[in-house]
Amino acid sequence: MNFIEEIIEQDLANGKNESKVHTRFPPEPNGYLHIGHAKSICLNFGIAKKYNGLCNLRFDDTNPVKEDVEYVDSIKEDITWLGFQWAEEHYASDYFDQLYAWAEQLIMDGLAYVDDQSQEEISAGRGVPTKPGIESPYRNRSVEENLDLFRRMKAGEFPDGSKVLRAKIGMTSPNMHMRDPIMYRILHSHHHRTGDKWCIYPMYDYAHGQSDSIEGITHSICTLEFEIHRPLYDWFCEALKIHHPQQIEFARLNINYTVMSKRKLMQLVRDGHVMGWDDPRMPTICGLRRRGYTPASVRNFAETVGIAKRDNIIDVSLLEFCAREDLNKVATRTMAVLDPVKLVIDNFPDDKVEMLNAVNNPENPEAGTREVPFTKELWIERADFREVADKKFYRLTIGGEVRLKYGYIVRCSHVDKDADGNITAIHVTYDPETKSGMPQSNRKVKATIHWVSVAHAKKAEVRLFERLFTSPDPDDCEEGKTFIDYLNPNSLTIQDGWIEEGLTLENAEKHYQFERIGYFCIDKDSTPDKIVFNKTVSLKQ
Ligand code: ATP
Ligand code: MG
Repeated sequence: MNFIEEIIEQDLANGKNESKVHTRFPPEPNGYLHIGHAKSICLNFGIAKKYNGLCNLRFDDTNPVKEDVEYVDSIKEDITWLGFQWAEEHYASDYFDQLYAWAEQLIMDGLAYVDDQSQEEISAGRGVPTKPGIESPYRNRSVEENLDLFRRMKAGEFPDGSKVLRAKIGMTSPNMHMRDPIMYRILHSHHHRTGDKWCIYPMYDYAHGQSDSIEGITHSICTLEFEIHRPLYDWFCEALKIHHPQQIEFARLNINYTVMSKRKLMQLVRDGHVMGWDDPRMPTICGLRRRGYTPASVRNFAETVGIAKRDNIIDVSLLEFCAREDLNKVATRTMAVLDPVKLVIDNFPDDKVEMLNAVNNPENPEAGTREVPFTKELWIERADFREVADKKFYRLTIGGEVRLKYGYIVRCSHVDKDADGNITAIHVTYDPETKSGMPQSNRKVKATIHWVSVAHAKKAEVRLFERLFTSPDPDDCEEGKTFIDYLNPNSLTIQDGWIEEGLTLENAEKHYQFERIGYFCIDKDSTPDKIVFNKTVSLKQ
């Protein structure tokens, strides 16, 4: 049980909130979700499920300048893909009327005032944590004047930046967020939902807690950077005498070799460093999906990482481990040769095509078997052969034996080379008695290698990925550099490979294991003529 669950179980035991649990996931629709958001989604939806409660999806859309319906749609798609269903879908902008009414109430209670100072004057007046700030010269306006000015702010009488509404709390708190924080700013800007109805918009701190309150949220879970905002969250709920959810903070998820802020991810997309938000190298949920991660692997990752109270950095290899674990269970096995060299079985009849039985998934008998054509000429991986081998090389060598997967044991006699000395064909003889099920089938050889029939194999495009950044912490830059300077120039390799002929788009599975290589999935760029594969992760670390 983590510390958040401990709090919740205590609340349930004490009958707080009528012993109900209601959480929410509150993204701002200003970008695509990333693996950090997945962590928060799994936590909020997971807690609701565990305690028989509800979890809302609420778009924190209080900043019209950066938000868009494109992001709203992608966020819904990603949460659904992860396997969660929200109880209610809300938008902070739906509460603009209520928030406005509450702001008038605070003015009438003498707890809010209109300030005509500039942004700079307000910042300067706030002071520093160790010294009290200076009160605004407009702080003691009458309730009537404040109400009148606030109404005229709403009516559009004043330009952007000319006035703000501030809470009247005090200028001495060591917590700077409590020094007469801004509640409303003037922004003559079109909102993706409310259109041009508003030209004043609430600040995050004034909107978030009250939105939670309106929805009857019991536990408002957020990341650590909001810990310092909590007194203000509590202050607004108290001042307005409304339902008071409990804000609980946990450490945000950080992963090495990537960046996670939406602003930086947006920059990668905008400046063409990646193919888009769903580039398989991106830490976005849609990127992970396109890369071939399963929802279960992402959920298991979130679970394995756990909930921390202090910031830490998780090794990206843990995410890869979770992908392998699930893909091993669900991926359909197939043979593919990515760096081909020809293998000729000299004693195999020229035109013979023998169909060999191959297992689709040893972890799942229901996946059945398929037939793969075996012929005189096969493609094998260049790396599976060495003319001269040391003691540690167990695969094919001149004079040595190896088993061809699902087929026979072959012995290498010699190789053909071109004028430059490159191997053009490896010649072997096969032993017909060594097929699986035959008397000699148990003969021991040190290695089994995969292959595809030259006459049957199809060409496919294979995209191999490495980490997007060369530095474990691209946010931590040397002087004069930005995270862009740490992009890995080799993060994408595109090559052709040979795949089994039976692997067609029409009967494509979601996830494949290219035997002995790794896990792959079919990319959306595929055409009937050429399937494109993304490498999700290699078989072993
Ligand atoms: P970013 O800093 O990446 O732009 P954000 O915090 O501004 O993200 P929001 O849309 O406001 O993004 O986040 C929605 C929810 O997801 C918030 O509750 C936030 O705390 C949580 N969240 C964001 N990033 C992470 C993370 N790395 N780990 C865990 N939770 C996160
Ligand atoms: Mg945010």
